[in-house]
Amino acid sequence: MNETVKTDHKDEEKAVEERLAPIKHILLVLSGKGGVGKSTVAVNVATELAREGYRVGLLDIDIHGPSLPVMLGLEGTPIHYSENAMLPVEFTINLSVMSIGFLLKDRGDAVIWRGPMKYGVIKQFISDVEWGELDYLVVDSPPGTGDEPLSIAQLTGKKSRALIVTTPQRVSIDDVRKSINFCKKLELPVAGIIENMSGFVCPHCGERVDIFDTGGGEKLAKEMNVPFLARIPIEPGIVDACDNGGPYVLTNGGSETAKAFRTAIEFILASQDEK
Ligand code: ADP
Repeated sequence: MNETVKTDHKDEEKAVEERLAPIKHILLVLSGKGGVGKSTVAVNVATELAREGYRVGLLDIDIHGPSLPVMLGLEGTPIHYSENAMLPVEFTINLSVMSIGFLLKDRGDAVIWRGPMKYGVIKQFISDVEWGELDYLVVDSPPGTGDEPLSIAQLTGKKSRALIVTTPQRVSIDDVRKSINFCKKLELPVAGIIENMSGFVCPHCGERVDIFDTGGGEKLAKEMNVPFLARIPIEPGIVDACDNGGPYVLTNGGSETAKAFRTAIEFILASQDEK
């Protein structure tokens, strides 16, 4: 690598560091697989933290399938700029949002970036957003243990912890084991595991049915010696909230499912200064 390229690289990493300096804690929401509810958890955890009075940023770096604009009803929202940075969109009191989806012209657009380009895009995206002072930045990463989660874990460094989302079935759990090993290799502390889609309570008869089995996430947490945070059931209200752009916990505050999110937050807050 020639000297100029090396210097540019260092400058860019310094820009990321400076941008993240006013942020106290970063939660990287990870999952072994797509479709397990990672974005849903990111949205509801961020909303609940903001409701608790923390200043929260929610960053979507899922460059292949950014879903936060839809989940928050922010599709087509224009981005405003300060002199040299993008300003996050203010969603509710204490909660601002930035998604790579705001920059794509069309939701149907396919984005094809190879490994090193992804690192560059993510790095630039992080250094170009002016969050200001935050207590928490919640990052919705793409699933798996590939280039994007690796990039974001390397870039956000020491103030990050991973929040891992799984469903209870064996195929999902096996992938989460990989995610935990990925965190261990990167020395990224694990704030805990959330088991999503864990059982379903029939709204008519009240009977509980474990459609995808249950308890796998908790067993794995014990086996891998990481905290288990909460079980979130399959909840028709979540589907509705995700499709219609309103975080579930905002509109269903007292429900059992919202309480499960609350339990997860309490664990996260209780352990925030341990690392
Ligand atoms: P991922 O980010 O892991 O790909 P999403 O958060 O986008 O997953 O969720 C995938 C779909 O599953 C969405 O349509 C969402 O509404 C739905 N979903 C997620 N969690 C639940 C749940 N606990 N109950 C019902 N539907 C859910």
